[in-house]
Amino acid sequence: MDKPVNKVREAKLELYRKKGKIHARAVTGRFNTLRWSMVWLTQIVFYGACWLNWDANGTIRQAVLFDIAHEKLYLFGLVLWPQDALLLAIALILAATGLFFTTALAGRLFCGFACPQTVYTAIFAWIEAKVEGDHLARLKLDQSPMGPHKLLVRTTKHAIWAALAIWTAITFVGYFTPIRQLLPTISDWQVGPWEGFWLIFYAAFTYAQAGLAREAVCQHMCPYSRFQGVMFDSATRTVSYDAQRGEPRSARRQTGNSGDCVDCGICVQVCPTGIDIRDGLQYQCINCGLCIDACDEVMHKIGAPGGLIRFASEIELAGHPATHSPAKRPRVAIYAGLLLIFSGLGIWTLSQRSPLLVDVLRDRGALLRETAEGRIENAYTLKLMNLSDQRGDFRIEVEGMPGITIEGQNEFSAESGSIQPVSVTVSVPPASGRPGLQPIYFRVASKQVPTTVAVEKSSFALP
Ligand code: SF4
Ligand code: SF4
Repeated sequence: MDKPVNKVREAKLELYRKKGKIHARAVTGRFNTLRWSMVWLTQIVFYGACWLNWDANGTIRQAVLFDIAHEKLYLFGLVLWPQDALLLAIALILAATGLFFTTALAGRLFCGFACPQTVYTAIFAWIEAKVEGDHLARLKLDQSPMGPHKLLVRTTKHAIWAALAIWTAITFVGYFTPIRQLLPTISDWQVGPWEGFWLIFYAAFTYAQAGLAREAVCQHMCPYSRFQGVMFDSATRTVSYDAQRGEPRSARRQTGNSGDCVDCGICVQVCPTGIDIRDGLQYQCINCGLCIDACDEVMHKIGAPGGLIRFASEIELAGHPATHSPAKRPRVAIYAGLLLIFSGLGIWTLSQRSPLLVDVLRDRGALLRETAEGRIENAYTLKLMNLSDQRGDFRIEVEGMPGITIEGQNEFSAESGSIQPVSVTVSVPPASGRPGLQPIYFRVASKQVPTTVAVEKSSFALP
């Protein structure tokens, strides 16, 4: 007789995963090809980009690097600073709006093809299939008692998973600490505390999420699956079963007055989340389209047209024509409008961005001073913010009043990423204008990059 504690544990497992461990059957077809294309694309970018170098005017550095210690983000030739937080905010808004837009158009496309959880689950499941065999062999192995063979394949699988998870963690940390510097420190564990923490955490996280938890993350942990429904409308195309065409399902389709579904169950066997799409739209469905591939193959074999399971909207399944009218799809129109607005704002912000920012403070302690020659002097403090990734030399000029000039030094240097305060004295000949404050303009130009110029308005006090 089962102990009560075992029954409780089983009940918990039942809640967590209703159908036991899912061993999805392999399938071929256009959505499977698209899915693997996305796996390759995303992983080539992820594992490869940290190895790219960038020549910044003779200085070789990692092309993509989040240099948290120096508050810089390198993206090839672009260097972003905390002052560029607006760009980051726009990028995040664009990503979120893009996600809402694609969800309104075609459901959880991101989940099925680009979400890291889906991508890594696909890779880990592929390794499992290579080591343990197809879905039937894996089911058999699950049910068999532990023996030398099972121990060997299980150890091999977990060792490969662990190696991949560790390399994934190294790659991830390599975007924050230059990967060529990081690797030698890992071999003798001379990494810093934060690097050590993230290496261990990210490796364990990847291993647990993609190897052990898998579809349970999509079903029970991901909040997106719970609120995606609010982005849907009746014209949103999601993976759907055409019940009008498929029902009544029957394994003896040719002999009776039945629908096209031959009840083979293959669409369920290939589903990575273990659901039956014939039960209707379910929050567990990640829109991967593998059941479409499977069913199309079955339809092909029985000589029926494909598309019994397909990307279709509620109104299409009800037999009405699809609508693309923005008036009938306000969500799509709003998301598209927001995408356009924030894309434009991002491009404009980027085009206006200067690697040199200047702040001018007039010395209010000594408002003005008259020299022995009768010239009037005002003192200023200029803050030169060098946002380039190079040390810069800058020449300061002033204009806006007849005979206005800078007394003494007018060339200064600022280190990369620094704010350099410099003191400047400006003078004008006597009787250069009406008493009071007159507008003047400081023009600061880079000596290395002539196009880098900043003009800042200030005022000159006349007696
Ligand atoms: S694969 Fe197609 S035919 Fe087979 S059970 Fe699923 S919907 Fe029916
Ligand atoms: S029901 Fe189809 S589209 Fe949805 S997760 Fe399963 S296989 Fe993918």
